[in-house]
Amino acid sequence: ESSQEPLYLTELNEAQKEAVLTLEGPVLMLAGAGTGKTKALTSRLAHIVHTRTAAPWNILSVTFTNKAAREMQDRVAVALGQSVEGLWFGTFHSICNKILRRHAELVGLQPNFTILDTDDQIRLLKQLIKAEGIDDKKWPARQMAGLIDRWKNKAIMADKLPSSEGSAFANGLGGKIYSLYQERLKILNAVDFGDLILLNIHLFQTHPDILSRYHSQFRYLLVDEYQDTNVAQYLWLRLLAQKSKNICCVGDDDQSIYGWRGAEVGNILRFSEDFPGAKVVRLEQNYRSTGHILAAASKLIAGNENRLGKTLWTAGGDGDPIKVRGVWDAPEEARTIGDEVESLQRKHVALNEIAILVRAGFQTREFEERMLTLGLPYRIIGGPRFYERAEIRDALAYLRVVAQPDDDLAFERIVNTPKRGIGQTSVQKVHEMARELGTSVSYAVRHAVSKDRIRGKAKTNLVRLMDDFDRWRGLSRTLSHTDLAETILDESGYTEMWQNDKAPDAPGRLENLKELINAMGEFDSLAGFLEHIGLVMENDERAGEDKVTIMTLHASKGLEFEHVFLPGWEEGVFPSQRSLDETGLKGLEEERRLAYVGITRAREQAYVFYAANRQIFGQWTNCVPSRFIEELPEEHIELDAAQGLYGSKQSSGYEAYSQRNSWQEDDWQSSGATNRSGETTPYVWGQTKSKDNRSDYGDKFGPGWKRAQKLNEGK
Ligand code: ATP
Ligand code: MG
Repeated sequence: ESSQEPLYLTELNEAQKEAVLTLEGPVLMLAGAGTGKTKALTSRLAHIVHTRTAAPWNILSVTFTNKAAREMQDRVAVALGQSVEGLWFGTFHSICNKILRRHAELVGLQPNFTILDTDDQIRLLKQLIKAEGIDDKKWPARQMAGLIDRWKNKAIMADKLPSSEGSAFANGLGGKIYSLYQERLKILNAVDFGDLILLNIHLFQTHPDILSRYHSQFRYLLVDEYQDTNVAQYLWLRLLAQKSKNICCVGDDDQSIYGWRGAEVGNILRFSEDFPGAKVVRLEQNYRSTGHILAAASKLIAGNENRLGKTLWTAGGDGDPIKVRGVWDAPEEARTIGDEVESLQRKHVALNEIAILVRAGFQTREFEERMLTLGLPYRIIGGPRFYERAEIRDALAYLRVVAQPDDDLAFERIVNTPKRGIGQTSVQKVHEMARELGTSVSYAVRHAVSKDRIRGKAKTNLVRLMDDFDRWRGLSRTLSHTDLAETILDESGYTEMWQNDKAPDAPGRLENLKELINAMGEFDSLAGFLEHIGLVMENDERAGEDKVTIMTLHASKGLEFEHVFLPGWEEGVFPSQRSLDETGLKGLEEERRLAYVGITRAREQAYVFYAANRQIFGQWTNCVPSRFIEELPEEHIELDAAQGLYGSKQSSGYEAYSQRNSWQEDDWQSSGATNRSGETTPYVWGQTKSKDNRSDYGDKFGPGWKRAQKLNEGK
């Protein structure tokens, strides 16, 4: 021990230091938002490397998003004054993917397996459900996908489904579909996201020799956002930590916001049981937010019954109270926030320090448009992403089939795109054959052709397409992967299809295809690129660009901004109707934690908005201010009384809305999709409710109503 402390230690308080310096044995850091958990975790990593307690490759760090992993890596480099090579960093999914590729054969896969996203998953399930003659009205594929995900989150394999689980969904039919789905995945040499973790667990459980190799490799485990691990992730961690027991988890039960995805806050509570003698460190000093923000957030979260409870304090000043403001409708909300952003910009606040955090994906569009109008640069995190656009998916499908001939879902996507005279009936036919033979579709196609079971134009065209793919695979040995991609898009007629398309968005799509080739250039190989695609969930953002961030509350976990805008605090939007309908009080508490996460992202100033009217499925609904507004203590908020309850533009708002068309309908529906990282909120509006049938969750108008009335009375 040198007498001079390294910088990464001097910056910490005593409790944090304790967590950093206790290297041997299990450590749990359990503390509220902004208390420096992530900072301590990063310092611990730096400390292990700095003291040469272990080599970088002996340390495994698990973060919740790829972005968080990158940030942690940067922070370690800063702490140590140099970048560190060989560290194992990533999300559960990316780490499991890496491990699984090394041992794919042991779980019945080939190392080049494809990772399916939700879209593929649902398409595959649709086919299975149809082929089995099951009524897809009663068994919608999307719902089935959700069910399978839930089982996987609980680490339940298809052959081990307890009868209680099966019967929960119409006499085990769900279980049957699950099994068929897994069989099919194996034939396609594909996995879904849940499998990445599940198959890892299976691998470790069935191959103790492999597990013991990882035991000796990963001598130190670090886990951030531990409150949001699900059962499968928890089991995986426990398997890995079994031997060394050097596991350090940090989390906050009040920030558990992924219950709908199977996260079990109970994992935190079980930690000390699983790892006897664990050191539990609690942090209470908040270094992030002002006194007002902290007090308001603490009071709000105190409304939850199911929590451990903790005190938070700050040595900093009180700052300004949270600004709460009522507006007429969503466009006014966007205008007002846009104006505020501009005024902050004039005060030299960096745009990077400003975030707009929404409850559901559909809400971002209004703000995007406003930012565009004002010429303010912005980034969307967790919204519809580049790699999810149709033309990008098509192009990727071509590349996937080249890389992996058995990738049926990719093959089916482009078999007749652009149109090449291969009709639905022919596709159906080879499909049936593939199922009969227990093979992939491309194998079945060859079989069908050789056995003459397919004839005429369809045959000629299928043979031509298969020949094309063979040729492209051959070219992949000589051409660079970017040249190959361009060749494929040209020769397949795909680029031409968009060139001939007169639709106004066609040029944009061609630009996207070019951008795709650019993106590929950053990787060494097609396989490397496709693996990356399978895992990226976040916009690949070049650091340093000054932009306003627009994202969902879920995606904002762990981040901080000087100014945080929180729009849409209305009953039904936030708390979301769906979570109230589906999970009652449990859902409400999770929504409240989400509100707590939102407020505590702010360092200087938080702004809460609610609108009097919102259009849902093209239908205008009167809104009631969120009960969470009522729950904010009066002494820590400032109501925008000058504007009146519903803003100043009542009449103009009315005129505007009657002229609008109903684009919203699509937005609402599409916002229901979860993306691969699950960072977008799955928001499905069950039913448009008027104020009068809200009584199913609380008093007639919701608690927020009282405050609204006070406001109306000119308080
Ligand atoms: P969250 O629960 O939101 O993930 P957290 O507990 O992980 O929060 P951090 O992000 O690590 O908190 O830290 C919050 C802020 O406080 C950061 O800006 C960090 O640099 C700062 N901070 C943390 N610890 C200290 C400290 N001992 N002294 C000064 N600043 C600190
Ligand atoms: Mg953190």
